[in-house]
Amino acid sequence: MALRDASPGGLNAAVEDTLLQRLVAARWVLGAGIAGLAAAAAGEAVSMPVAFGLAATLLLAATIPARRRPVAAALARFSGGEARLSAPAPVEGRLSALVRALPEAAMLLDPRGTVLVANERAAKTVASVKIGDPVSFAVRVPEVLEAVRAASADGTARRVEFSERVPVDRWLQADVVPIRFSAGADPGRPDATLLTFHDLTQQRRAEQMRVDFIANASHELRTPLASLSGFIETLQGPAKNDTQARERFLKIMADQARRMSRLIDDLLSLSRIELNAHLRPEAEVDLVTVIGHVRDTLSPIARERGVEIAFDAQQAPVAVRGDRDELIRVFENLVENALKYGGSGGKVEIALTREGRDVVASVRDFGPGIAPEHLPRLTERFYRVDTAHSREQGGTGLGLAIVKHIVARHRGRLSVESVPGEGATFAVRLSAVTERGE
Ligand code: ADP
Repeated sequence: MALRDASPGGLNAAVEDTLLQRLVAARWVLGAGIAGLAAAAAGEAVSMPVAFGLAATLLLAATIPARRRPVAAALARFSGGEARLSAPAPVEGRLSALVRALPEAAMLLDPRGTVLVANERAAKTVASVKIGDPVSFAVRVPEVLEAVRAASADGTARRVEFSERVPVDRWLQADVVPIRFSAGADPGRPDATLLTFHDLTQQRRAEQMRVDFIANASHELRTPLASLSGFIETLQGPAKNDTQARERFLKIMADQARRMSRLIDDLLSLSRIELNAHLRPEAEVDLVTVIGHVRDTLSPIARERGVEIAFDAQQAPVAVRGDRDELIRVFENLVENALKYGGSGGKVEIALTREGRDVVASVRDFGPGIAPEHLPRLTERFYRVDTAHSREQGGTGLGLAIVKHIVARHRGRLSVESVPGEGATFAVRLSAVTERGE
């Protein structure tokens, strides 16, 4: 199917390719031809009528429009309607500029599906897109190609959502919008089709995370709840008069109730921190005092486990802008984890180091460490290397997620390094308050 003329009466070709323009474009060929003929006539190699006849043929041939590149020609035709609106700039340039300026990945296709224009984002989204190629060379999704075909045939816009696995997992939405350049044109036969792609990956991931989070949180609460209900039934029935069993069961029930309340506390903390994520805490807090306090609070647990917590609480104050309670929470979680999971190393070292305008607080243990494949996922909610071990230790699976969110609210960075078998180091980088109080 050939490109249809966009303006009534087919006048738009004349707008672009006037006779005068063609003569000007062919002036060198014409000049050479006429000069040759004149020379031939002068030398009487050919008779004058033949020379005149040849010159006239040459002149006629020069008026035949030069074969333009099909894409440029198609664009020029599309732009015919615009040309009448006293366009100051070349119209095909304006149409291309419009498609290029669109914030989404966008391509303009002719009715046969040839790519006329593609913006930079389109080149990033559909790597192999090339001007002048059929869109099917670049887009391999049958549903999208079918939507393009159908929209070009009936002039109705279409939307297709699809996912791709290669080169990376992503979800995209393709919008196929038929375009007519003149109001009176046949509505069933658009002049062009605009194909745009909208990346839904972030949105889908966020939705998935929300669904996973609710599922995980319910599961975490349901497990101790089921255990509590089970023990209540047993105490009401078979173990009604068994004093020994009752004592044992009540202890387990108290543990499960504590676990539930820890989980609810952690969930509430997390949502409170997220709510205030955009507000950077302003107060001046001394990290030496904060960490000293955490060490004192956790020293009974450390002693119980035979672990030494090494920290120089006598060093000069190190001030950061922050929220004291939240920073205490960060170091409590990190030191508690070091005791819970790395306690077998017998020692936990906490150090404060100045690095330029930053201060790095690191918590290092000498336990079994963490395999590299787990490192990037440790701060995900409910992610645990060993779920049973975490539960045994009273873990909720939210500790590091809370740490990450607090550190982010302080505009700091959390990093983890570990050599399996040699322990793990969790480091929190915060910007220190300078002498001038900045
Ligand atoms: P939890 O409540 O399970 O402790 P966290 O978010 O605090 O949850 O930690 C997530 C997981 O990271 C833990 O379950 C544990 O598997 C692992 N982890 C955290 N700190 C350490 C550490 N110092 N050594 C080894 N593993 C650790």
